[in-house]
Amino acid sequence: MAQAPARAASAVRLFDAHCHLQDPRVAAVAPALIRAAATSGVARFAVNGTSEKDWHLVKRMAEDHPAVVPCFGLHPWWVPERSPDWMDSLRRFFSETPEAAVGEIGLDKGSHGKTIDFGDQVEVFWRQLELAKELDRPVSVHCVRAFGDLLEILKQIGPFPAGVLLHSYLGSAEMVSGFANLGCYFSLSGFLTGMKSSKAKKMLKSVLKYVASLLEMSEAELAETSYKNAIKLFSYPGSKVHPEAEAN
Ligand SMILES: [Zn+2]
Repeated sequence: MAQAPARAASAVRLFDAHCHLQDPRVAAVAPALIRAAATSGVARFAVNGTSEKDWHLVKRMAEDHPAVVPCFGLHPWWVPERSPDWMDSLRRFFSETPEAAVGEIGLDKGSHGKTIDFGDQVEVFWRQLELAKELDRPVSVHCVRAFGDLLEILKQIGPFPAGVLLHSYLGSAEMVSGFANLGCYFSLSGFLTGMKSSKAKKMLKSVLKYVASLLEMSEAELAETSYKNAIKLFSYPGSKVHPEAEAN
Protein backbone atom coordinates (compact mmCIF):
# COMPACT_ATOMS: atom_id res chain seq x y z
CA MET A 1 0.00 0.00 0.00
CA ALA A 2 1.39 3.36 -0.97
CA GLN A 3 2.13 5.77 1.83
CA ALA A 4 0.41 8.89 0.56
CA PRO A 5 1.85 12.21 1.72
CA ALA A 6 -0.40 14.66 3.56
CA ARG A 7 -2.91 16.28 1.22
CA ALA A 8 -2.93 20.03 0.95
CA ALA A 9 -5.98 22.13 1.66
CA SER A 10 -5.27 23.86 -1.65
CA ALA A 11 -6.96 22.47 -4.77
CA VAL A 12 -3.81 22.68 -6.88
CA ARG A 13 -1.49 19.69 -6.69
CA LEU A 14 2.11 19.94 -7.76
CA PHE A 15 5.00 17.54 -8.09
CA ASP A 16 8.48 19.04 -7.85
CA ALA A 17 10.03 16.68 -10.37
CA HIS A 18 13.58 17.87 -9.80
CA CYS A 19 15.20 19.35 -6.70
CA HIS A 20 18.19 18.97 -4.38
CA LEU A 21 16.84 19.25 -0.86
CA GLN A 22 19.90 17.34 0.38
CA ASP A 23 22.09 20.28 -0.67
CA PRO A 24 24.00 21.52 2.40
CA ARG A 25 22.63 25.02 1.73
CA VAL A 26 19.05 23.87 2.34
CA ALA A 27 19.25 20.48 4.07
CA ALA A 28 18.72 21.95 7.54
CA VAL A 29 15.47 23.66 6.54
CA ALA A 30 14.30 20.87 4.21
CA PRO A 31 11.74 19.38 6.67
CA ALA A 32 10.17 22.84 7.18
CA LEU A 33 10.29 23.49 3.46
CA ILE A 34 8.56 20.18 2.67
CA ARG A 35 5.80 21.05 5.19
CA ALA A 36 5.41 24.60 3.88
CA ALA A 37 5.34 23.44 0.27
CA ALA A 38 2.69 20.82 1.12
CA THR A 39 0.35 23.60 2.24
CA SER A 40 0.70 25.26 -1.16
CA GLY A 41 -0.01 21.98 -2.94
CA VAL A 42 3.43 20.45 -3.56
CA ALA A 43 2.71 16.83 -2.79
CA ARG A 44 5.94 15.22 -4.01
CA PHE A 45 9.62 16.02 -4.42
CA ALA A 46 12.02 14.06 -6.61
CA VAL A 47 15.25 14.71 -4.71
CA ASN A 48 18.27 14.20 -6.96
CA GLY A 49 21.66 13.09 -5.73
CA THR A 50 24.67 14.49 -7.54
CA SER A 51 27.74 12.53 -6.39
CA GLU A 52 28.92 9.68 -4.23
CA LYS A 53 29.09 12.20 -1.35
CA ASP A 54 25.35 12.89 -1.17
CA TRP A 55 23.62 9.64 -2.17
CA HIS A 56 23.33 8.56 1.48
CA LEU A 57 21.72 11.94 2.35
CA VAL A 58 19.10 11.46 -0.37
CA LYS A 59 18.44 7.91 0.81
CA ARG A 60 17.91 9.07 4.40
CA MET A 61 15.68 11.98 3.37
CA ALA A 62 13.45 9.61 1.41
CA GLU A 63 13.23 7.30 4.45
CA ASP A 64 12.24 10.24 6.68
CA HIS A 65 9.73 11.88 4.32
CA PRO A 66 7.00 9.98 2.45
CA ALA A 67 6.80 12.92 0.01
CA VAL A 68 10.40 12.45 -1.13
CA VAL A 69 11.18 10.25 -4.15
CA PRO A 70 14.90 9.42 -4.06
CA CYS A 71 17.05 9.68 -7.22
CA PHE A 72 20.68 8.63 -7.45
CA GLY A 73 23.12 9.73 -10.10
CA LEU A 74 26.51 11.24 -10.82
CA HIS A 75 26.12 14.83 -12.10
CA PRO A 76 28.56 15.95 -14.83
CA TRP A 77 30.11 18.58 -12.53
CA TRP A 78 31.25 15.83 -10.14
CA VAL A 79 32.69 13.54 -12.81
CA PRO A 80 36.34 14.46 -12.01
CA GLU A 81 35.86 13.57 -8.33
CA ARG A 82 34.40 10.12 -8.91
CA SER A 83 36.07 7.17 -7.21
CA PRO A 84 37.24 4.16 -9.24
CA ASP A 85 34.29 2.11 -7.94
CA TRP A 86 31.59 4.77 -8.30
CA MET A 87 29.46 2.54 -10.49
CA ASP A 88 29.48 -0.34 -7.96
CA SER A 89 28.50 2.11 -5.26
CA LEU A 90 25.68 3.49 -7.42
CA ARG A 91 24.40 -0.02 -8.10
CA ARG A 92 24.46 -0.72 -4.36
CA PHE A 93 22.26 2.31 -3.67
CA PHE A 94 19.74 1.07 -6.23
CA SER A 95 19.66 -2.42 -4.79
CA GLU A 96 19.21 -1.06 -1.24
CA THR A 97 16.61 1.51 -2.39
CA PRO A 98 14.37 -0.18 -4.93
CA GLU A 99 12.04 2.83 -5.01
CA ALA A 100 14.76 5.09 -6.44
CA ALA A 101 14.88 6.70 -9.88
CA VAL A 102 18.06 7.74 -11.75
CA GLY A 103 19.34 11.33 -11.56
CA GLU A 104 20.87 13.69 -11.80
CA ILE A 105 23.04 12.80 -14.75
CA GLY A 106 23.91 14.69 -17.90
CA LEU A 107 26.18 16.69 -20.16
CA ASP A 108 27.45 20.22 -19.61
CA LYS A 109 29.37 22.52 -21.96
CA GLY A 110 28.51 25.65 -19.99
CA SER A 111 30.99 27.90 -18.22
CA HIS A 112 31.74 25.31 -15.51
CA GLY A 113 31.01 22.21 -17.60
CA LYS A 114 33.56 23.08 -20.27
CA THR A 115 36.36 22.77 -17.70
CA ILE A 116 35.43 19.07 -17.37
CA ASP A 117 36.67 16.61 -19.98
CA PHE A 118 33.71 16.02 -22.30
CA GLY A 119 34.80 12.47 -23.17
CA ASP A 120 34.66 11.60 -19.46
CA GLN A 121 31.26 13.24 -19.15
CA VAL A 122 29.94 11.19 -22.05
CA GLU A 123 31.30 7.93 -20.64
CA VAL A 124 29.78 8.53 -17.18
CA PHE A 125 26.48 9.66 -18.69
CA TRP A 126 26.35 6.70 -21.07
CA ARG A 127 26.90 4.12 -18.32
CA GLN A 128 24.15 5.63 -16.18
CA LEU A 129 21.70 5.77 -19.09
CA GLU A 130 22.34 2.08 -19.67
CA LEU A 131 21.76 1.45 -15.97
CA ALA A 132 18.44 3.34 -16.13
CA LYS A 133 17.41 1.16 -19.07
CA GLU A 134 18.52 -2.00 -17.30
CA LEU A 135 16.61 -1.07 -14.12
CA ASP A 136 13.67 0.29 -16.13
CA ARG A 137 13.66 3.55 -14.16
CA PRO A 138 12.98 7.10 -15.25
CA VAL A 139 16.05 9.29 -15.45
CA SER A 140 16.49 12.99 -14.74
CA VAL A 141 18.86 14.67 -17.19
CA HIS A 142 20.80 17.92 -16.88
CA CYS A 143 21.94 19.45 -20.17
CA VAL A 144 23.72 22.73 -20.76
CA ARG A 145 24.75 23.72 -24.29
CA ALA A 146 25.03 20.10 -25.38
CA PHE A 147 21.56 19.34 -26.73
CA GLY A 148 22.89 18.07 -30.08
CA ASP A 149 25.19 15.58 -28.31
CA LEU A 150 22.38 14.66 -25.95
CA LEU A 151 19.92 13.87 -28.73
CA GLU A 152 22.54 11.72 -30.53
CA ILE A 153 23.34 9.71 -27.40
CA LEU A 154 19.70 9.24 -26.42
CA LYS A 155 18.98 8.02 -29.97
CA GLN A 156 21.81 5.49 -29.75
CA ILE A 157 20.82 4.09 -26.35
CA GLY A 158 17.08 4.73 -26.42
CA PRO A 159 14.17 4.60 -26.57
CA PHE A 160 13.43 4.99 -22.85
CA PRO A 161 10.04 3.47 -22.05
CA ALA A 162 10.41 4.44 -18.36
CA GLY A 163 10.90 8.07 -19.40
CA VAL A 164 13.57 10.77 -19.38
CA LEU A 165 13.04 14.10 -17.66
CA LEU A 166 14.95 16.93 -19.32
CA HIS A 167 15.07 19.39 -16.49
CA SER A 168 15.39 23.11 -17.26
CA TYR A 169 14.98 22.39 -20.96
CA LEU A 170 16.75 25.06 -23.02
CA GLY A 171 17.21 23.22 -26.30
CA SER A 172 15.57 24.39 -29.49
CA ALA A 173 11.87 24.05 -30.20
CA GLU A 174 12.83 21.99 -33.28
CA MET A 175 14.47 19.32 -31.13
CA VAL A 176 11.44 18.87 -28.89
CA SER A 177 9.75 16.25 -31.07
CA GLY A 178 13.00 14.24 -31.44
CA PHE A 179 13.36 14.11 -27.67
CA ALA A 180 9.66 13.42 -27.08
CA ASN A 181 9.75 10.45 -29.50
CA LEU A 182 12.45 8.84 -27.34
CA GLY A 183 10.35 9.13 -24.17
CA CYS A 184 11.40 12.55 -22.90
CA TYR A 185 9.46 14.89 -20.64
CA PHE A 186 10.35 18.55 -20.20
CA SER A 187 10.62 20.41 -16.91
CA LEU A 188 11.28 23.86 -15.57
CA SER A 189 14.07 24.65 -13.10
CA GLY A 190 14.20 23.51 -9.50
CA PHE A 191 12.83 26.72 -8.02
CA LEU A 192 12.80 25.47 -4.49
CA THR A 193 16.49 24.89 -3.94
CA GLY A 194 18.14 27.66 -2.01
CA MET A 195 14.96 29.68 -1.77
CA LYS A 196 12.83 30.72 1.18
CA SER A 197 9.58 28.77 1.26
CA SER A 198 7.49 31.95 0.97
CA LYS A 199 9.49 33.03 -2.05
CA ALA A 200 9.31 29.51 -3.51
CA LYS A 201 5.51 29.55 -3.21
CA LYS A 202 5.30 32.89 -4.98
CA MET A 203 7.67 31.69 -7.69
CA LEU A 204 5.75 28.47 -8.30
CA LYS A 205 2.50 30.35 -8.60
CA SER A 206 3.83 33.03 -10.95
CA VAL A 207 5.59 30.48 -13.16
CA LEU A 208 2.42 28.42 -13.39
CA LYS A 209 0.48 31.50 -14.43
CA TYR A 210 3.06 32.42 -17.06
CA VAL A 211 3.28 28.95 -18.61
CA ALA A 212 -0.50 28.60 -18.56
CA SER A 213 -0.87 31.88 -20.45
CA LEU A 214 1.70 30.75 -23.03
CA LEU A 215 -0.18 27.52 -23.57
CA GLU A 216 -3.60 29.17 -23.42
CA MET A 217 -4.61 26.79 -20.65
CA SER A 218 -6.06 27.67 -17.29
CA GLU A 219 -3.62 27.59 -14.41
CA ALA A 220 -5.55 24.76 -12.79
CA GLU A 221 -5.54 22.71 -16.01
CA LEU A 222 -1.80 23.18 -16.44
CA ALA A 223 -1.12 22.27 -12.81
CA GLU A 224 -3.21 19.12 -13.08
CA THR A 225 -1.63 18.13 -16.42
CA SER A 226 1.91 18.54 -15.18
CA TYR A 227 1.07 16.80 -11.90
CA LYS A 228 -0.37 13.83 -13.80
CA ASN A 229 2.67 13.71 -16.11
CA ALA A 230 4.98 13.60 -13.11
CA ILE A 231 2.87 10.91 -11.43
CA LYS A 232 3.02 8.87 -14.62
CA LEU A 233 6.80 9.29 -14.89
CA PHE A 234 7.47 8.43 -11.25
CA SER A 235 5.04 5.53 -10.78
CA TYR A 236 7.41 2.83 -12.06
CA PRO A 237 7.33 -0.61 -10.40
CA GLY A 238 8.73 -0.34 -6.86
CA SER A 239 8.14 3.40 -6.59
CA LYS A 240 6.38 4.90 -3.58
CA VAL A 241 4.26 6.87 -6.09
CA HIS A 242 1.11 4.99 -7.14
CA PRO A 243 -1.32 6.54 -9.63
CA GLU A 244 -4.43 5.16 -7.86
CA ALA A 245 -3.34 6.44 -4.44
CA GLU A 246 -2.59 9.92 -5.80
CA ALA A 247 -5.73 10.23 -7.90
CA ASN A 248 -8.03 11.64 -5.25
ZN1 LIG B 1 19.62 19.61 -10.65
